[in-house]
Amino acid sequence: MSCPGCGGPLPEMERTCPQCRADLGWWVQREEGVVYGPYDLLTLRRSVADGRTRPSDPVKLGELGAWVLLQSLPADLRLLERIPSPPLPPPPLAEDPALADSEPVSFPILRWLGWVVLLLLLGFLGLVLFPVLVHLSYSR
Ligand SMILES: [Zn+2]
Repeated sequence: MSCPGCGGPLPEMERTCPQCRADLGWWVQREEGVVYGPYDLLTLRRSVADGRTRPSDPVKLGELGAWVLLQSLPADLRLLERIPSPPLPPPPLAEDPALADSEPVSFPILRWLGWVVLLLLLGFLGLVLFPVLVHLSYSR
């Protein structure tokens, strides 16, 4: 799509043609016939991208332009282009099967405590349960 005045390229961030000064403001008719504008092309593109202007809304180029549905405008205006979504974050390391089986190395105190608990349990068995068992077997 080009400038209706001189056939030059449409500027993205201006509402008048830099060559022939033609009126290039975009007008949008939203629900209940309310008209918004004039916008430059970039602003119109953004309002379509964030959903304020829908493809079925009538738009016109310049105050004297004809109303057409936004979705019927030429594709080179890139009004219905999808904004690329941000890249997905990398998966957490724990989901890596090679790393899931490896021992955690950041908490040596926990492994040390594990051994202390195990020794205390063995000590408890030796000091309390073993004499009790011996006593029981002798008292039969
Ligand atoms: Zn022009």
